[in-house]
Amino acid sequence: MIKAKNFQQTVLAWYQRHGRKDLPWQKKITPYRVWISEIMLQQTQVNTVIPYFEKFIKYYPDVNSLAAAHEDEVLHLWTGLGYYARARNLHKTAKMIVEKRQGKFPEDIALLQSLPGIGRSTAGAIASLSMKKHAPILDGNVKRVLSRVHMLKAYENQDKLWLLAEKYTPQKNTAAYTQAMMDLGAMICVRNQPKCEMCPLSKYCKAYSQGQQNDFPGKRPAKKLPVKKIILLLLQNSEGKILLEKRPSTGIWGGLWSLPEFHDEKNLIKDFHQKYGIRPKKLKSLAPFRHTFTHFHLDIFPITAIADTDKTSLSGQFWYDPQKPAALGLSAPVKKLLSRLDVNPLNRFNKAS
Ligand code: SF4
Repeated sequence: MIKAKNFQQTVLAWYQRHGRKDLPWQKKITPYRVWISEIMLQQTQVNTVIPYFEKFIKYYPDVNSLAAAHEDEVLHLWTGLGYYARARNLHKTAKMIVEKRQGKFPEDIALLQSLPGIGRSTAGAIASLSMKKHAPILDGNVKRVLSRVHMLKAYENQDKLWLLAEKYTPQKNTAAYTQAMMDLGAMICVRNQPKCEMCPLSKYCKAYSQGQQNDFPGKRPAKKLPVKKIILLLLQNSEGKILLEKRPSTGIWGGLWSLPEFHDEKNLIKDFHQKYGIRPKKLKSLAPFRHTFTHFHLDIFPITAIADTDKTSLSGQFWYDPQKPAALGLSAPVKKLLSRLDVNPLNRFNKAS
């Protein structure tokens, strides 16, 4: 049994000497800045997040500016970070905080957790890091450390790990302790080849004492992902611009701009003409590729074509100029396809046909 006080002192002493204290969100600490950083850091490494965070904060320095932003701009700044529901929820939550709470973040953990996109660990991080509240966190880094120290498989022992997180989180110095645990997970107790010889917790760590660090936190039981298929149409007009359409706000790539999507190549021309009033010509298939979501694989079959008219008949569509890209949120596969186009895409399509 590890005494909480000993655990805390060990972690805090390590943090004083080795912890990170210069991350952009550790300066001018506010609930807003901590919240943005925590959401970006979900599923994403610190080094990747830093430039995104700095740009985002430049555009939206506080919750009021984010609430007033257009969703397209927010999604555009998020392009490349993936998991776009995070950006949509940020925007939604900013609006709720401004409209219902006069721009102030709730200090109550349960209220924080009731906001879109804020789970228990994120609420704990906002409260402990920016409000000096006693609130435990259990993000991926902390989970890995506790799972190894106690040799508990993470997926099967969420409740036990939360109890341990509560037990070890001190009443005082909570912010430093929270940051220290995140840093230990990110810098020392890393996923592959943890640096146990440098770890202050090695004296308590069961996995280390038994040489089983790599067996923890363990994997989620594997499940075979279903495969879905779609055709994405890269349709060019006479100026070489590509037709994009805004996706519904829910579902995959919600609220992002995407290429028209089809499931049946045989009827593509007829269906497209019926829906959009444009007849695609000179169709040519590009190499298919796979994009994997949490719950399924999506096999994407891109097709290029030339439009017989520059008009669009529906709202929520526009002709995108790859040479002067508009500030829009694009899904990763669409961004990839557009980046493959030549400097003069019209020539390329004509050549290809
Ligand atoms: S001793 Fe190794 S496995 Fe245990 S907490 Fe430290 S780094 Fe992680």
